[in-house]
Amino acid sequence: MNEVKAKKFLGQHFLTDETIARRIVDSLSPDSHRVLEIGPGMGVLTKYLIERPDTDFHVVEIDRESVAWLHDHYPTLHVIEGDFLKLDLSALFHDHYAIIGNFPYNISSQILFRVFECRNEVSEVVGMFQKEVAERVAEGPGSKTYGILSVLLGAFFDVEYLFTVHEHVFNPPPKVKSAVIRLKRNDVTHLDCDEQLFVQVVKAGFNQRRKTLRNALRSAGLAIDAVPEETLAKRAEQLSVDEFITLTKTIESCI
Ligand code: SAH
Repeated sequence: MNEVKAKKFLGQHFLTDETIARRIVDSLSPDSHRVLEIGPGMGVLTKYLIERPDTDFHVVEIDRESVAWLHDHYPTLHVIEGDFLKLDLSALFHDHYAIIGNFPYNISSQILFRVFECRNEVSEVVGMFQKEVAERVAEGPGSKTYGILSVLLGAFFDVEYLFTVHEHVFNPPPKVKSAVIRLKRNDVTHLDCDEQLFVQVVKAGFNQRRKTLRNALRSAGLAIDAVPEETLAKRAEQLSVDEFITLTKTIESCI
């Protein structure tokens, strides 16, 4: 069967470097026994993943041509043909699971928001993103890429930037550099504040990231009367996860 022809609208950039593929798969901790790969394409990661012992392994791939290729090359592999963003994950696994992939870059943020929503089931994520997105997730306060996803994911996951990947190891090469990151679920079960309000506060703060929190939060209609001046004079990118929790608690106390 012929190679899959890369389709731009599906974010297809096939990894051609076996050493990097192996390195990504080896970054998944050995105690992850339920694993979902998003966007296997022509199986460059899959072929190493199926070798993992005692692993309940599934892949989800939206591209019919890649699905046919996978059926042909890995007849026993469980391939779900469809969109990861619409997949009913709770029907797939009945316990915690890990997610891995060289992800389609056009839906990186949506994948990460989904990980946040499923934070009580996702134990680990190892994945390749465009470098800027990887940095955004991995950075701490003060950095210009620190943003909504850094705070939301940082509250529930320990994030590590593993390594940078050059565009020339892909076919076709993407326009930007890539990077592999790992997110490991921490032991926080609930934040010490209203979690929905926390998300609202973080989003409101960063949606107008150049403004002070006073302006950003006020224009989002949040009650800031009890928030100390010192905090209101800052910008969202200066606040750590814990400071966002404290801020949310203060806003909550005024509702
Ligand atoms: N893992 C392969 C392919 C990476 S390219 C490799 O490293 O070579 C990204 C892959 O994600 C493509 O195969 C693309 O078809 C698939 N994809 C794109 N959008 C998707 C979606 N919404 N759900 C599942 N797979 C998707």
